[in-house]
Amino acid sequence: MSNKKPVIAALIVAAGAGERFGASLPKQYQPLLGIPVLKYNINKLSQIIDINNIYVVINPLHELLFIHATQGMDLPPPVTGGATRQETVRRGLEAIAASDAAKPDYVLIHDAARPGLSVDLIRRICDALAESDAAIPALPVADTLRRLQPDGRTQTESREKLYSVQTPQGFRFELIHGLHQSHADTVVTDDAALCELAGHAVTLVAGEKDNFKITEADDLARMEQALANRCGDIRTGTGYDVHRLIPPPDDLRRLMICGIAIPHDKVLEGHSDADVGLHAVTDALLGTICDGDIGMHFSPKDARWKNADSAAFLRHAADLIAARGGVVTHVDLTLICEAPKIGPHRDKMRARMAEILCLPESRISLKATTTEGLGFTGRGEGIAAQAVATVRLPFTPAIQMAAATEDDDTRKWGT
Ligand code: MG
Repeated sequence: MSNKKPVIAALIVAAGAGERFGASLPKQYQPLLGIPVLKYNINKLSQIIDINNIYVVINPLHELLFIHATQGMDLPPPVTGGATRQETVRRGLEAIAASDAAKPDYVLIHDAARPGLSVDLIRRICDALAESDAAIPALPVADTLRRLQPDGRTQTESREKLYSVQTPQGFRFELIHGLHQSHADTVVTDDAALCELAGHAVTLVAGEKDNFKITEADDLARMEQALANRCGDIRTGTGYDVHRLIPPPDDLRRLMICGIAIPHDKVLEGHSDADVGLHAVTDALLGTICDGDIGMHFSPKDARWKNADSAAFLRHAADLIAARGGVVTHVDLTLICEAPKIGPHRDKMRARMAEILCLPESRISLKATTTEGLGFTGRGEGIAAQAVATVRLPFTPAIQMAAATEDDDTRKWGT
């Protein structure tokens, strides 16, 4: 290879119906620490691979689930999968070849059911492809194996030189694309097997224990634990917001608090929907990643956010955390007002915030208080909200953090 940086594409195979998983929502769309499993994969791959080069092959019945899971991501359109995994991969490779983008040098083919892949693993595979036609992650088999005999008894089998294979599997793009075309009728268990069949060597790189495949419902809980264990950097952020209460300026404006429309004789004044509760939580989340405040991300001078649903602001903050490999673990919000009464709406508000953040309600606390008639809240002139959020981020060594801060300093503030 020349010194030119290789163009890398990823193909995420997410077309399975997931019969073994047994839930109504297919496993690739299940929430994993508040993020759909599929999105977890995309977030990881996009740390090495340009997001425009990350292709997802989906089941045509899951199109709405795909749109919901990948909102705000600049991905190529999804590719429709086939009847078998092999056909699904072939269709994905054909879509990459047919795209207007530059032909990739490498492609990483990855099962959506393995969201535990690490950035280091992706890097190891790409590095190995500089020297090899194919590079796949594998782990030596650790358990003692037994083979069932024709008489029904079992016998110990040597595990020596045996490996269990994972994804992403990396290939030279032209090679694997060509092999899938020419061997469409040859049934193989994975893409590496096609390479071997055609006489190409396959390099093994070290796989990872946490990169196991989510097959059954229990695996999801095990994966959540594994991912949370990686996030040893526990952050706390606070948020505070106030909006003025005014008579409704028109028939459309409603009083929005925590994503719920509340019947009341006054509404909150603001450029967006003025949802004071969601604004405070959004700022608390931004605080955990030191990423400014809500006004920096959604300027009150920007016409795009006129009367905007503040759920989008909160989701954006959560997505920024997810893109850093982090998870939101807890939100505690206090609303401060004399009226309206919050109690009758509390359950709906918690449920709505849980829905926006893809978290269980047990991780969302909502409290309300008055100020005993004192101050602007006491006089009913406005509503205040304060929030605390707890987030877990992957632990970053101090030296890497210093380098990242230098990059951040070049960014323009207050735009
Ligand atoms: Mg506000």
